[in-house]
Amino acid sequence: MRLVADLHCHTSASVHAYSTLHENIEAALMKNLRVLAVTDHGVGCEDSPSVNYFDNLTSLPEYVKGMRLLRGVEANIMDYDGGLDMPEQVLEKLDIVIASFHTSCTRTGTREQHTNAYIAAAENPHIHMIGHSGSAEFEYDYEKVIPVFKQYQKVVEINAHTFICREKSIKNCVRIAQLCKEHRVPVAVNSDAHSEFEVGECGKAFEMLRGIDFPEELIINIDHERLCRYLDSIGVKM
Ligand SMILES: [Zn+2]
Ligand SMILES: [Zn+2]
Repeated sequence: MRLVADLHCHTSASVHAYSTLHENIEAALMKNLRVLAVTDHGVGCEDSPSVNYFDNLTSLPEYVKGMRLLRGVEANIMDYDGGLDMPEQVLEKLDIVIASFHTSCTRTGTREQHTNAYIAAAENPHIHMIGHSGSAEFEYDYEKVIPVFKQYQKVVEINAHTFICREKSIKNCVRIAQLCKEHRVPVAVNSDAHSEFEVGECGKAFEMLRGIDFPEELIINIDHERLCRYLDSIGVKM
């Protein structure tokens, strides 16, 4: 299993990340990625870029040295109704929208509240991908919600950064991956890089997936044709 696209990375526009967009692009090109999505944190985080930053992402080229650059965001789920921290008219302009819970933006609630928030996120047509939902602070009813992600064509992220910095969440990630396997829910394996050194690095996530014999055909970003079909389905032309 080898990544052809990293669909989740941060630049120094999110102040707790350390590399510029240019450095991330160079790292992705070095690793022969065909697609890189730049997905800085939505404006609900204290150290996020402004709405204008996201609005202006259209000034970036679609291709750099043959690699497709996707303009995206990792929006924050701000409440238990699934409310996001980004205006809809900006989300509509972006190629890819990830939605995630972060403790820096949203207080941990009950399992039922998190379950409701994720169901609302599933129903939100602006969201394409559910980010690192194994977070130990935001556990939800996986058995109930994973089939709902499938129903609304959401991609579930298997986040490599979790294996480095969210160790308590790993057992939840394994459970989520098992349910995706069982219900045939497409997943994306992403680095969630916070520096150029992490771009495209997903070894531990792949190790986990191999450990549960996860079907390769469900991973949208390890095969170029499969990835193109998925991107086409969300309106992104290659
Ligand atoms: Zn995140
Ligand atoms: Zn992230």
